[in-house]
Amino acid sequence: MFSHSVISKTQQMWKFWVGVAALIFGSVAPIFEQSGVSWTVGTVIAVVGYGFTVAFVICPACGQRWFYKGLLDASLYRPLFSKSSCPGCNHLFE
Ligand SMILES: [Zn+2]
Repeated sequence: MFSHSVISKTQQMWKFWVGVAALIFGSVAPIFEQSGVSWTVGTVIAVVGYGFTVAFVICPACGQRWFYKGLLDASLYRPLFSKSSCPGCNHLFE
């Protein structure tokens, strides 16, 4: 999935999925009482997961934090998943 995206090309897709998994787990687990996860803990897990993706998915060429940029300008998300070049410095990753 997304094998031609710049995130995959730079071997960082796992960081994205770790963040997504934490976000979903933290949001869904508190719904189920037997999970033992309170809303406070769930929120912390979700925020930390999202923060992990924002902080650690970076361009190896220019160091831009792609998901941080995406927070400020949501139109950047699409090129991250559809193009093989950095939206910041246009470095093409093979
Ligand atoms: Zn770059």
